[in-house]
Amino acid sequence: MIHRDMICPFCGCLCDDLVITTEGNEVVQVDNACTLGTHKLMGAWKNRLKNPIMRDGGGWRDASYEEAIEYAAGVLLDADRPLLYGWSSTQGEAQGLGVSMAELLGGVIDSTTSVCHGPSILAIQEVGHPGCTLGQVKNRADLVIYWACNPTEAHPRHMSRYTTYADGFFLENAFRDRKLIVVDVRKSETTSIADEFVKVKPGGDYAVFAALRAIVRGRADVVPDTVAGVTKEQLVRIGEMCKEAKFGALFFGVGLTMAPGKYKNIRNAIELVDELNRYTKWTLTPLRGHYNVYGSNEVFTWMTGYPYAVDFSRQIAFYNPGETTAVDILARKECDACLIVASDPGAHFPKACLEHLTKIPTVLIDPMNTVTTPLCRCQIPTAVNGIDAGGTAYRMDGVPIHVKKFMDLGYPSDTEVIGRIFERIQEVKHP
Ligand code: SF4
Repeated sequence: MIHRDMICPFCGCLCDDLVITTEGNEVVQVDNACTLGTHKLMGAWKNRLKNPIMRDGGGWRDASYEEAIEYAAGVLLDADRPLLYGWSSTQGEAQGLGVSMAELLGGVIDSTTSVCHGPSILAIQEVGHPGCTLGQVKNRADLVIYWACNPTEAHPRHMSRYTTYADGFFLENAFRDRKLIVVDVRKSETTSIADEFVKVKPGGDYAVFAALRAIVRGRADVVPDTVAGVTKEQLVRIGEMCKEAKFGALFFGVGLTMAPGKYKNIRNAIELVDELNRYTKWTLTPLRGHYNVYGSNEVFTWMTGYPYAVDFSRQIAFYNPGETTAVDILARKECDACLIVASDPGAHFPKACLEHLTKIPTVLIDPMNTVTTPLCRCQIPTAVNGIDAGGTAYRMDGVPIHVKKFMDLGYPSDTEVIGRIFERIQEVKHP
């Protein structure tokens, strides 16, 4: 069976032109997806946990969904400070239930944003977001900057769908007519096709943004001969290219958000874009990783006023990244139960945080065994959004897209499992 116009549930590009061929309950061919998307779609329907598993002494035993859901609700109800973490690779409907559950429990809900583009959001909260849709970039942008990111490997179709290789309404030959500047601390696949590669010394991004702002403002006289390893000559040339563009688009990755300077880097980037908008049209977009991490920020913000790291222990929504973020709560050994949904902190969090996860009742909702599995006491497998579950996801430019399912393997979706845990908690809290 051939399924057309399917959505790739891997990265924030949320490519919506996939053609997936199935035979029975097997994916036999994926057209249009990149290697990352193809690997997920070809592989995520197999090697799944067959049923929930629970700790049994030093090993594991199989459990029913009823038993695992009852256990998850029980540990969350018993906890004084439960942490609900993850949420970036699941549907918006499940994220909404997670927020309601955290509020009822008086717990903390945080998404993977706090370890990727959290600093971008802090900067946007301070100075605004001069954003646009990826369609605008494809059709209009004649100059694109990728700063501290490598889309060729991390978002492989970003350039072919929206920038370097994507012809648009106002660009008949994008590869010829659209200039590309790449700023990074090292050479990469993306730097090799750039018209200008700006090699910045590690930790020097803030200074380079500041120098470009001065140049764009007509104060090149205050810029020294080199800034963080970049010559003044190159900076002046880039400043002129940016001012002469009809429509410029700046994309950046976690190489900027997690480098020294953190959110101040992004604030300076936004202020450079603001400066350029006095001359021409410029926009800025964070390159988001997980396919629905943007959605977690949207859903959390509609429901609480805050995009991530929301703490309900004061009976109201409280937000203070650095205090209410998952890594900080775990490092302080503050939470006494943890529900992890659709993410793999075992592969990313500091050792002290992982040690604490092993000491408290931790429940993982994830289709497959991951690095986080050994840290948990219970794992509940669910359907994979975009394969055997559907739901809402937000692309990296904030456009909501309905992710469709194309097969049914009999697993409940994240929304169903979280809904049942929430129902059980409601029965106890509001009998
Ligand atoms: Fe999937 Fe991202 Fe590749 Fe598109 S670029 S096919 S969304 S992994």
